[in-house]
Order: sequence, then C-alpha cells, then structure tokens
Amino acid sequence: MIIHLKNSVSDADVVTIAQKLDAFHIKKPEHHVLVTPSALQEVPAQYEKLVEASFAFANDIQLASADYFSDIREIDINGVKIGGSNNNTMVIAGPCSVESEEQITQSAELMKEQGISTLRAGCYKPRTSPYSFQGMGLEGLKLLDKMRSQYGLNIITEVRDTTHVDEVIEFADIVQIGAKAMYDQGILRRCGKTQKPILLKRGFGSTLQEFVQAAEFILSGGNDNVILCERGIRTFETKTRFTLDLCGVAFLKEHTNLPIILDPSHAMGYRYGVADLARASTAMGIEGLLIEVHPDPSVAKSDAAQQLNHDMFRDLLGTLRPIASAIGRTIV
Ligand code: PEP
Ligand code: MN
Repeated sequence: MIIHLKNSVSDADVVTIAQKLDAFHIKKPEHHVLVTPSALQEVPAQYEKLVEASFAFANDIQLASADYFSDIREIDINGVKIGGSNNNTMVIAGPCSVESEEQITQSAELMKEQGISTLRAGCYKPRTSPYSFQGMGLEGLKLLDKMRSQYGLNIITEVRDTTHVDEVIEFADIVQIGAKAMYDQGILRRCGKTQKPILLKRGFGSTLQEFVQAAEFILSGGNDNVILCERGIRTFETKTRFTLDLCGVAFLKEHTNLPIILDPSHAMGYRYGVADLARASTAMGIEGLLIEVHPDPSVAKSDAAQQLNHDMFRDLLGTLRPIASAIGRTIV
C-alpha cells in the first residue's frame, strides 16, 4: 500500500509509523510517502487522521503502477525530456563498448551530426566469457566525459557490479543496469539513493512482474527517475539472439507509469533485423530506442554482429522520423 501522510506529521512520528508498518519512507515536498508491503490493504484506524491519500494494490507493483498514477513519469535528462506530456522518442545510440578515443569520437560526431541527444557505450562489459573484452573501465568513463563536454551529448553507460557503481553514477547522465545485473540488489538499492535517471534492462529470463519489482527497488529508495528497457528475452527460438517481447511492452504501457525504451539491437543480435524492429518499436509509441552503432562493426570488440554502421544508422533515422511524427512524436 502507498500512504501519503500529511506534511504536518513530524519526521519522528513518520519514522515510528514507517517502522510499525514495515514501510519505506520517501520525503516529498508535498507529503511523506510510505510504501508498505502490498498485503496491507487498509490504513490502520489509528493513523487515518494523518493520511492525505492511500492506494491499495493487488501485488508488489506499487510505485510503478498505473493505478498509483496513470501518466507516464516525466524524466528530464539535462533538458531532454521524456514521459509526462512530452511526446519525445529519445534515440540512444553508440557502440556496444568504448574501445578507443578515436572510435568514441567518431560515434559522438555521428550523434551530433544527426541531432541525437544521447550517446551510449559500455566501459564495464558483462561478458559471458572471462576471456572476452571486458571494457576499458575508468579510462572509458573519462573518454565518455570528454565526449559530453566536447559535443554536448548526454552519456549513458552501464554498471556491471557494485565495485564501480559510484563511479558510473558520477560520470553518467543515465545509468544503465544491464540485463545480467537486473537482479543485483546492491546496484538497485544504490541507484535508489541517487536522483540520476536509471535505465533498467529486463533480465532475459525475467517475468514482467520480476522486472517491474526490480524497478520498485530503485523507486522505493526515493529515485523517481526509472526507465524500463525491453531488450529481448530467451525463448525456445535459436535463430535470433533473443525475442523482443512487444506484448510485454504493451503490458508495461498499460499497467505501469514508467517510460519505456526498446532495444532491438540486443534482441535481434544481427544487423539485418535491427532497422525493421526499430521502426516497429517506434510505432508502438514508446519513449525511446537503444541502437548499437559502430564506426566499423567488423572490428568491434563486443557485439560485432548486431551493430549498425554509420550509413545504416543515418538511413534508419530518416525512416524513423516520419513514423514518429505520424503518431505525434518527435525523435530527440
Ligand atoms: C549493452 O547494452 O551493451 C548490454 C550489455 O546489454 P544487455 O544488458 O541488454 O545485454
Ligand atoms: Mn552490446
């Protein structure tokens, strides 16, 4: 249950009530928000006078629920806004990994040329094999920082584990929690204690309930700026890398208040399908896309098979803009 306690209730009383109800306490300018387990369905009688509003839920999708409020949460990333009343579809693009200054500079120049706001690239790569390229680490973060100041781009990069979560929060404009880290409660809880926007990817073996509950870990910590990212789930199919769950996206749009970004690159796993999936995803009226693009995919150190080259990305954007505008949205 979510309970809004009146502002007049003292902090000390709120702490006592939160303890009694086993609740998270989030302090807002207008009121105190208490989030209890969803099993609580009614405000206990002794607190009724202190309550401004209360919301009961069928399960532990609470702060993220469209039944709490039905508008999509607005997220402002240094002036680039998604959700709320902004009909923006934010394209996040760039290579899978930062590999060198030359490579990431070429990527940043492409984003600038195409009027794209957000550059992506991983520095801590969650690889399936310990023998694969693991990312440039802090050196990569510093290169991304340089791209931000030289090109005025927002930067999104991934946190792989809790050893570098503070570093990533410091350097990124949006912190990406990858599919393999979706269950890492150390990362989730730490990300709940910043106000930086968090892009939470769906674990490829996770149900929608588990995915949104992972978002609840961040939201209940007090960070309202959570974006969900569908990036494909594992099914019986082996011809594509994963299966992009568009039905799941329809569910999330209907039942949550969180902005949604679709990642066709990791779902498909092969260059050839990415543009079609990106167009289909855009037509769903979502808040953004994540596309992997590399200056020369044939030499990419990770995810080489799925990254678009620069010309493919330019062509794709040319076809995405009219699709977005046909449904009243703007690519940013
Ligand atoms: C990535 O974005 O490069 C990545 C590793 O994604 P995922 O966590 O979805 O596999
Ligand atoms: Mn990748």
